[in-house]
Parts: sequence; structure tokens; C-alpha cells
Amino acid sequence: MSIISEGLQKFFGRGKFEVKTFADGACNYIGSFGNVGVVKTDDGLVLFDLALRLFDRFIFKTVREFSDKPIKYIIFSHGHFDHCLGYAPFIEEVNKKGWEMPQIIAHENLVRRFNKYTMLDKHQAWTYRQQFASVGVINTDSESVHERLDPTIIIRGNESYKFKLGEYTFEIYHGKGETDDSLWLFLPEKKVLFTGDLFISSFPNVGSPFRVQRYAKQWALANEKMMEKDAEFLLPGHGPLIEGKEKIKTLLKITAEAIHFVHDEVVKRLNEGKWFEQIYHEMLEIFPDKFKKHEYLKPLYGEYRFAIHDVYRLYHGWYDTDNPTDLFPSRSDEIAQEFLKVADERKFLERAKQLVNEGKFQLALHVLDVVVKADDSTNSETLLDALRLKHKILKKKAKEEMSFIAMNILNTGALQIKNKIKELKKKLK
Ligand SMILES: [Zn+2]
Repeated sequence: MSIISEGLQKFFGRGKFEVKTFADGACNYIGSFGNVGVVKTDDGLVLFDLALRLFDRFIFKTVREFSDKPIKYIIFSHGHFDHCLGYAPFIEEVNKKGWEMPQIIAHENLVRRFNKYTMLDKHQAWTYRQQFASVGVINTDSESVHERLDPTIIIRGNESYKFKLGEYTFEIYHGKGETDDSLWLFLPEKKVLFTGDLFISSFPNVGSPFRVQRYAKQWALANEKMMEKDAEFLLPGHGPLIEGKEKIKTLLKITAEAIHFVHDEVVKRLNEGKWFEQIYHEMLEIFPDKFKKHEYLKPLYGEYRFAIHDVYRLYHGWYDTDNPTDLFPSRSDEIAQEFLKVADERKFLERAKQLVNEGKFQLALHVLDVVVKADDSTNSETLLDALRLKHKILKKKAKEEMSFIAMNILNTGALQIKNKIKELKKKLK
């Protein structure tokens, strides 16, 4: 097993990815990154999502242990690479056995998304390397959508789509949330919900730092619409299979409530004429314990602080500081060099050390950045000390972060500093 696969299991499989047959043997849950759902009918199989390309052989093998029937439909919950790239062994099988190609169902915005990813291929890869740093670099080719399965049945706008296969009805609904191309599936005869990333068993991924705009309000509404289905099983985009009508209702409800909360509190403050900094720090103060401590709202991937940014960004432009200095700013290294003309860099370093001793790590980073940014190699020893201290703080913060994304961004920063320290030491020799 690769480092990436192990790391993802540890983080998202809560130890190990599970496989489980449920709904009287009609469905199979395959825990993966992301999860895959299988429905077995008299006339063939329906797959809901296909995980990372990295897991394709595992998914194929697991599906085939469940049933040897041909696959008739593949539904993509949305166009993220952890949900639609593990298709290769299934297509090989279709070709080998001379079966008909399955129908591929997706929302029209997934097609736009794939085109966008193709245009921004190298940029995407660059962001993955930072977002997934702790589990090894995700290789560009392995996650690229240059090769992919294009949809054959395209759901447009807010349309829902229904079809029958064998003894079951498949109801597919569109909802905006993490993406604008999200689909969720309900199987009425067995009362099974397949949510994709509209539900991920942890704090919803509203406002991922490297990612584009999410849709908080519609996300909450989608969870509420799912609640009306009275499902007895919920197969989430990530995390374990959830069973029991009451539990499912409670979890969808609290998730929707948490999203409404972030959305409505940011909107309220925008209407009070507040700027981002004030909104952000006020929101940290009022985050209710019932969300903070909830077993299914842990900030494993997405997190509350990110969500504040995202809702703000949905309704307000990039000028967010109430300070015209920031309208056409100078380079940050030039600013830092000016500070060092006012006061000696050792003073900044000393103050940063004091702040660390007082446990004020974030403030220490801001002060240290004057020395780090100014990057004055005529005073290399102080610069080295500043880099070492920043490295230590970032590592400490990374360890304390529950969010996989936050942790990786901090670790990526720490790694870059480590390399810089090495370079500087070489120069000093
Ligand atoms: Zn996902």
C-alpha cells in the first residue's frame, strides 16, 4: 500500500476503510477516498461514485466480491477527483466481456468543471501538493481529468431525474453545496440515501483555503431536503455508513443548522457594516459548543474558521480590510526591510521569543515575519534563528490542528522553511 493510500485511510477511514453489505443485501458500502455505493438489482448494478484513481483496483475487486453482474449506470455525485476517477478496471471489464457500456449520469456543471480542470491542470496539481502534503505528493497524472468518463445522461439546472432498473427506483436530485454540480441519490424501496460530499460525517467543507466558492445556504437546504426522505441508511461522501432513521435525521439536521449558523451570522454582521477581521474574530467567540463538540461536526477536513471566509467572500469583494493602505500594497519583503531600518532585527527576534514563552504563537509568527520576509543575509545568524523558530511554531501548530487541510498547509510551510535553512547554512560555510 502506498504512503498516500495509508495516510488517507488513517485520516478518513478512521483507521481502516470498511466494506459493508446492507439494506437486505441490496447495497454495498465501500469505504474509500471517497466512498463508493453499489446497488444490486435483478438487471445489473448501479455505482454511485468511483473514488480516486489510486483506489481503482481495490474498488473493482470489492464490487466484484459483492456481485458479478454487469454495471448499467455510474452516477457521479460531483466532479471532484476523489469521486470519479477510479473507473479504469470497470471499463476494461466491459471491453473484455463485450458488455454494453454503462450509462454515466452527471450534472451539466460537471462537464464545465472538467473543462476548467483541463485548462488549469498545472495549477490544480500545485494546489494538491500543498493540500495533501502529509500523505505524499499527489502526482499530476494520477489525478488529472485529461482522461475521464464523460457523462452520457446529463442532468440540467434544478431538474431531478428518475429511472428504474430491475426492482428499484433511482431518484436523483441536484443540490448546490461543496460544488455547483452536486447530485444525490435516493433509493425509495430500500430507503437509502447516497449524499456525495453534501454530507461527509465531519464539519462540511465550506471554504477550503485553496478552493473556489462554495454555496453555504443551498448546502444547508439540500441537507434539509434529504431529511424529508426518512432514510434508514445514509452513505456519505466520506466517513462510515450511517444506519437508523432517527440518527440520520439528527445528523442531517445538526449539519444543516451549523451551516445556517455560519451563513446567517456572517450575513447579519455584513448588514451591520462590519469588515472581515471584526466578523472573523467575533464569530470565533460565538461558535456554539453544540457544534464545536459534536461527534459528526469535527473539523477533520473542512472547518468553521474556513467557512467564515467562504460566506464573506460570497457576498463581498476582495477589499476587506477597511484600510486604503491595502488597496495597492507594496511588496511584503520591501515593507519588512523598512521595519528593519527602524529597529534592529534582533529586537524582533527577541520579542517573538517572548511571545512564544507567553504561548502567543500566532502573534509571534507575525513579528517573526518581519525578519523572515526582509530576508537580510548580511545578518544570517539572526535570520537563521528566526527561520528555526518559525519552523518550530508551524510544526507545533500543525500538530494541534484537527483539519487535514490546515495541518498540511502548515506542514508545507514548515518544509519550505527547512529547505531555506539548509540553503542558508550552505551559503554560510
Ligand atoms: Zn470528496
